[in-house]
Amino acid sequence: MRYQPVIGLEIHCELLTDSKVFCSCRNEFGGGENTRVCPRCSGMPGTLPILNQNAVRLAAKAGFATDCTVNAYSSFDRKNYFYPDLPKAYQITQFEHPICTDGHITVCGDKKIRINRIHIEEDAGKLVHDDYEGISMADYNRCGVPLIEIVTEPDFRSAEEVQDFVEQIALRLKYAGVCDARMEQGSLRVDVNISIMPYGSDIFGTRAEIKNLNSLKAIGRAIEYEIQRQAEILDNGGTVVQETRRFNDNHGDTKALRSKEEAHDYRYFPEPDIPPVLLSDDDLEDIRKSMPELPHVRMARYTGEYGLPHDDAQLIISSKAFSDFYDEAVKLNPDYKQISNIMLVEVNRHLNDSGKTIEEVLFSPSDIAELARMISDGKVSNNAGKDVLKIMFEHGGKPMAIAEQNGLIMSSDTSGLEAAIDEVIAANADSVESYKNGNDKIFGFLMGQVMRTIGKGGNPALAKDILQKKIGKE
Ligand code: ADP
Ligand code: MG
Ligand code: ZN
Repeated sequence: MRYQPVIGLEIHCELLTDSKVFCSCRNEFGGGENTRVCPRCSGMPGTLPILNQNAVRLAAKAGFATDCTVNAYSSFDRKNYFYPDLPKAYQITQFEHPICTDGHITVCGDKKIRINRIHIEEDAGKLVHDDYEGISMADYNRCGVPLIEIVTEPDFRSAEEVQDFVEQIALRLKYAGVCDARMEQGSLRVDVNISIMPYGSDIFGTRAEIKNLNSLKAIGRAIEYEIQRQAEILDNGGTVVQETRRFNDNHGDTKALRSKEEAHDYRYFPEPDIPPVLLSDDDLEDIRKSMPELPHVRMARYTGEYGLPHDDAQLIISSKAFSDFYDEAVKLNPDYKQISNIMLVEVNRHLNDSGKTIEEVLFSPSDIAELARMISDGKVSNNAGKDVLKIMFEHGGKPMAIAEQNGLIMSSDTSGLEAAIDEVIAANADSVESYKNGNDKIFGFLMGQVMRTIGKGGNPALAKDILQKKIGKE
């Protein structure tokens, strides 16, 4: 490939407010068509917008989550265009003075991607096309749903960098409670702007914009397709036109939707019905203080201070609730690896089997901390620990009590053990003889017999020692 791709993103995220951005209709996904609309969000003349303060707060949080400057002054503008999904015929957005500017996120290890701005705007409705009847219907439930749009500089040079960025943004916004980032439901939608230029050049080519990609895979495929398409045009002496294109998931290709509008086509002007948004130092400090620890900071703590392998740390942070649970447990018992192993292997297995989330389990982080301590202190064997967890998962209860009630405490009493081993040796004289004659494999069988006789509370290490001594072969 002789061309270097250059990519910039515009990401729309629906904010997790209770109500819409300029009216009190509920902000909820789904519902029957046009059941969440009022005169204000359906654009009736004479109605006035009232700005949702929580939307402002969440937008500011998005800024703090991406190292932006959150501006003390921001304001709204009207972006005029006619389309049936927009009953007012203008969208209220922030054009001149966005709420956040100049952020960045580091991707693929050490590549810095600059964020130009984050602004607040309202979503439009949805058109449902019925090809059979030859009609289109408008559902205005989504009109006025609060959005932020995150706009990056054209700093990406590969699909991998884009995918890493989108994954990180989605996770940070989820941690901060800004957006649930469900790409498949469209609560986070990515527009990819892409151009190509000969390697070594620093003059960007003309870009195409691919709208509304709704999975990481679609993003990757759309970028690969566009690079090929534009390269063929340039190779044949043609020129790429600036336009908006739609990615077709079934065909894996992109098709032109419309030529790209310029800013002046929208006749932006200041929104006269909404006063500017002013955030005092106290407001900003208050919002900043309400931020949780972010996933990339946790990642550094887990792999650095705690010495967890990268992949394990990545799995833990992939859910905030799971990671919170882990953090609570290691606060009580700083056995980082042991607790990570229990949670990633055993707890996750039960979660997957039962379809539950970590928030729904019947035990607490302190129970997991105690279970880990019981295993490392040799009170229960590794295997017995799994049995204890299974019971905790199914019925709840304290690990020590469960181990005691179910005879799972590892006994260090040797007299009972010796009697049991004598019994096994007497009953399996042939196998013992064969082992003495060099059949090492049969030792496992004898150990199995011993463990069966002494039960789950038996101490396997101790049993092995005694068995070897008694047979007279060490
Ligand atoms: P507009 O507002 O018309 O969409 P912007 O200048 O705000 O235009 O850019 C929109 C997006 O396009 C940004 O994400 C930016 O990084 C990206 N972009 C701008 N120029 C290029 C280019 N030559 N190639 C690829 N992406 C670009
Ligand atoms: Mg744009
Ligand atoms: Zn409404």
